Amino acid sequence: MELGSKSLRKVAVIGRGTAGSLAAASVTRLHPESDYELHHIYDSRIPVIGVGEGSWPSLVHELRRLTDLPHETIQRRLKGTRKYGVAFEGWGAPAGDFTHFFLPQRVSYGYHLSADLLADLLHESTRARHIDAKVLDITRVEGGALVECEGMAPERYDLVFDARGFPRELHPDRHIEMSFIPTNSAVIRRCPAIVEEEGEGPVQQHTYTRAVARPHGWIFVIPLTIHTSYGYIFNRHVSGLAEVEADFDAFLEAGSVPQWEQRAVIPFPNFVHRRMYDGAVARIGNAAAFMEPLEATAIVSAQLQIGMVLRTRLHRPAKYVERDAATVSRFLVDNVLRYGLFVGWHYSRGSRHDSEFWRYARDRAWPRYRQTADPEAVGCDVLRKFDDMIELLNRPVIDKADWIRMCGVPLTSYAQISRGLGC
Ligand SMILES: Cc1cc2nc3c(=O)[nH]c(=O)nc-3n(C[C@H](O)[C@H](O)[C@H](O)COP(=O)(O)OP(=O)(O)OC[C@H]3O[C@@H](n4cnc5c(N)ncnc54)[C@H](O)[C@@H]3O)c2cc1C
Repeated sequence: MELGSKSLRKVAVIGRGTAGSLAAASVTRLHPESDYELHHIYDSRIPVIGVGEGSWPSLVHELRRLTDLPHETIQRRLKGTRKYGVAFEGWGAPAGDFTHFFLPQRVSYGYHLSADLLADLLHESTRARHIDAKVLDITRVEGGALVECEGMAPERYDLVFDARGFPRELHPDRHIEMSFIPTNSAVIRRCPAIVEEEGEGPVQQHTYTRAVARPHGWIFVIPLTIHTSYGYIFNRHVSGLAEVEADFDAFLEAGSVPQWEQRAVIPFPNFVHRRMYDGAVARIGNAAAFMEPLEATAIVSAQLQIGMVLRTRLHRPAKYVERDAATVSRFLVDNVLRYGLFVGWHYSRGSRHDSEFWRYARDRAWPRYRQTADPEAVGCDVLRKFDDMIELLNRPVIDKADWIRMCGVPLTSYAQISRGLGC
C-alpha cells in the first residue's frame, strides 16, 4: 500500500502567526521525501496576533527538534524565561494564592517567549517558497484543495494548513461556542523587563505566569527578558473598557510599574471548529479553536493539530486519508473541549472579588457547561470524561492505577487546581 507521504507532493501553509510558522517548520522537518513543494502563503498587510507568550513543556522539546539548536540558544533567541507553572492570586473560595506546577514540580518547564521571535526562529528552519498574497478562497477538489490568491491563478495542493487566525464570525453549524468561559476580550500592555539576562547563558531563574484575579476578570503577567507582558482579560458585555483600564492602571501603580505601553485591545471568541480536518484542509491555531489564555492552551493545541494531521497523512496508507481525517478531527475537537472544561472550571468557585463579573462567571457562565458539552451537541463524550476526573478527585483514596488519567491535562493538574480553588 502506498504511504501517504508519496502522494503528498504539494503542501500549502497559509498564515505566518505562531500556528502557520510551526506548521511550515514541521512539514520541512517531518516530510520524509525530498521532492515535494511547500508554499508558505501569508498576507503581510494582515498582522499576526503576536501575544502567545506562555507555553507548556512540550514546546521546549518540539523547538529543539524543529530547529536542531541547543535549548540554551533557543531560549536566548526567544528572549525567553523558564515557566514552571501558573501562579494564581486571589482565585477560589476561600480565595487564596496557589501554583499550578508543571510536573515533575520545579523540574519541568515551558517557555515564556516572544511570539514574534518564535516565528522568526521557525522560519530559519523552514524550506518553502514564500508568497506574500491575500488568500480569497480555499475549495475542496478531488484529492486536494484549490487555493485562490488575490491577483493570481488558483493553485491546487494535496494538503492545505489554514492558519489565518480567528474566524470573522461563529456559525453554530460549523463552530461550537464555549459559552461557559466568561471572558471575551483582552487589553495588552508592555512594561519594562523584570527578569534580565546575565552573561552568555540563558536565564535559569524559575518564573511563573502570574494570573491575578481582579474585579473585572484577571491579569496575566509574563516575564520575558526584553519586556514584561501584561494582559487584562475581561468580558466586554459585563464591564466597560474604561473601568477595566482604570483598574489596570491601579494594578500597575500598586506594583510600582513605572511605565507601560498600550499594545492592543483584542476581542476573542471561545470556540472550536466542528471539522478541523477534512483530509485536504486542516484548520490549525486560532482558525481551528481558541479559548482565553488562562492556561496557555493555544500553542500546545496547535502543536497537537499539526502533529496529528501530518503524522497520519505522511505515515498512514494514502487510501485511508478520508477515514483518518474524520477520526483525527473528532479527536482534536474532543481535546479542545477538554481544555475548555478545565479552563472554565477555574471560575467555578469565584474569587476574592464579589463583583458583577465574578458573579456572572461563577453563577451564570460556568453552569452552562453541561448543556454546551452535551454529547448530542458536540458529538463526543467529553462531559463524561470531565465528570470522571471530578469524581476521582472526590474519592477518599485515588487508586495508583488512576494517577496517570488525563482529561486534556493530567489528573495532577486537576488536583492542584481543585485544592487551590477550595473545591
Ligand atoms: C490575549 C491573548 C493572550 C494569549 N496568550 C497566549 C499564551 O500565553 N499562550 C498561548 O499558547 N497562546 C496564547 N494566545 C493565543 C495566541 O494568539 C495563538 O496561539 C497564536 O497567536 C496563534 O495564532 P495564529 O497563528 O493561529 O493566528 P494569527 O497570529 O492571527 O496569524 C494569522 C496569520 O494569517 C495571515 N492571514 C490572515 N488572513 C489571511 C489571508 N486572507 N490571506 C493570507 N494570509 C492571511 C496573517 O497575515 C497572519 O500571518 C493568546 C491569545 C490572546 C488573544
